[in-house]
Amino acid sequence: MRLRVGMPRRLIVVAPHPDDETIGAYALMCRLRRRGVAVKVVVLTDGAASHPNSLRWPRRRLTAERRRESRRVLRQIGVAANDVTFLNLPDGCLHRHTVPARRGLARALGHGGPALVAVSAASDAHPDHRSAAICASTLRRPGLRVLAYPVWPAGSRPAGARALLLTAQERLAKRHAVRRYRTQAGRITDDPQGFVMTPAQIATFTRPCELFLDGRR
Ligand SMILES: [Zn+2]
Repeated sequence: MRLRVGMPRRLIVVAPHPDDETIGAYALMCRLRRRGVAVKVVVLTDGAASHPNSLRWPRRRLTAERRRESRRVLRQIGVAANDVTFLNLPDGCLHRHTVPARRGLARALGHGGPALVAVSAASDAHPDHRSAAICASTLRRPGLRVLAYPVWPAGSRPAGARALLLTAQERLAKRHAVRRYRTQAGRITDDPQGFVMTPAQIATFTRPCELFLDGRR
C-alpha cells in the first residue's frame, strides 16, 4: 500500500543515531522540503558506540564527525544546521535516558500546528530504536501524526507498512547520501569490533521504497 503524506505543515524526523534519519526517511524529507515544508531532525544519541575501541577515533572525534556527517547530508537536501538538534545521549542505553529524550522531542515539536513525526519503529531489532519509538509515542499535540520507519534488521518489512516509492534519481541520491556517513561505511579501520555497513546493507537501505507504519491519531 502507498503512503499518503498529504500536506503537513512540518516534519520532525527522530533519529536514534546520526544516520538513521537518512536510512529511514531521506526521500520523505527531500520531498517535503521541495514542497516548502519545514523539516527538523532530532538525533537522540551521540553515536559513540559504533567504534568503542578505536584509538584513532576516540569518543570526541568520532561523535563530532558523526554530527558533521548528518549535518552535511541534511544541508544538501535543504535542512539547515539550525534545524538539526543533537541531544548527545549515550549510544546503546537510550532506555536509561528517556526523560531528556522526551523533553528534547517535545521541545523540537513545539506548538507550531499540525506536525508529522517520523521515528524508528517500535519493532526494530536495535534497543535504542525501540526506546526512540517509546519516547515519541508519548508526544501529544492536536493533529499529530506519527510514522514509524524500520531500520534493523536491514531490509525488514513490517506488516502493514506503507510505501513511499522512490524515483530512480531519488534512489541514487539516497545511496550517495548513505555512503557519506563514512565513519559507518568503512572509514574507521582500527576497531575490529566496530560497525561497518556492508554493501548488502547499503543496498537494502536504498531499496526502491521507504516504508512507514502509520500511527495516525
Ligand atoms: Zn541507529
